[in-house]
Amino acid sequence: MTADTDLLKLINPALVEAAASGPRLLGGACRACGARSFPRAAVCTDCLSIDVETLALPSEGRLYSYSVVHQAPKGWDVPYVLGYVDLPDGLRVLAHIAAPPAAIAIDQQVRLALGVVGTDAAGAPLSTYTFVPA
Ligand SMILES: [Zn+2]
Repeated sequence: MTADTDLLKLINPALVEAAASGPRLLGGACRACGARSFPRAAVCTDCLSIDVETLALPSEGRLYSYSVVHQAPKGWDVPYVLGYVDLPDGLRVLAHIAAPPAAIAIDQQVRLALGVVGTDAAGAPLSTYTFVPA
């Protein structure tokens, strides 16, 4: 098993940061209208302001919906679960759900984690943020 600190080095630092409580997604909050985004939008999709600050997002949410995916980009492990997670601040995040389909259900509480989702052409792990049952 790969430690979170090792996985974090492989993930775009604009998307995820380490916190004492675990990994956190980094989104955006528009200073003009308050709209949230993930990934952080360079331009607010609600008011077109470019004044969008980086904001750490809640690490737990509710599984809105999911699907089991059997076709994936080269190197990704299949099948995998892809789901929408509703965060308490109103954002809906699309992410891998790192659990077998039999272990998840719509409306289930999930929490952010880091995980390996495949292997690249050189044999290195492909890692990303995921959600797991809370
Ligand atoms: Zn805005």
